[in-house]
Amino acid sequence: MARLTEEVGELAREVNHVHGEKPKKATEDANTIEDELGDIVFVITCIANSLQIDLSDSFNKSMMKFETRDKDRWTKKVTHQEE
Ligand SMILES: [Mg+2]
Repeated sequence: MARLTEEVGELAREVNHVHGEKPKKATEDANTIEDELGDIVFVITCIANSLQIDLSDSFNKSMMKFETRDKDRWTKKVTHQEE
């Protein structure tokens, strides 16, 4: 959990760097939002493996919630194919 929190903090720092008002110091690593998202996925995968949880099942359950319980929660974007 500490590692996950650390990586989420690093993501927040990168998002702030790109979209916020706090520029990086010259001494800071040149990570990207993409790098930090990858780090978070890795840590989450490690947590799931250590608890013998199938992450695919977890993801599918979450997607099912978005498609059923939360289906009217957000305004759907119309794609060009649906127009
Ligand atoms: Mg990182």
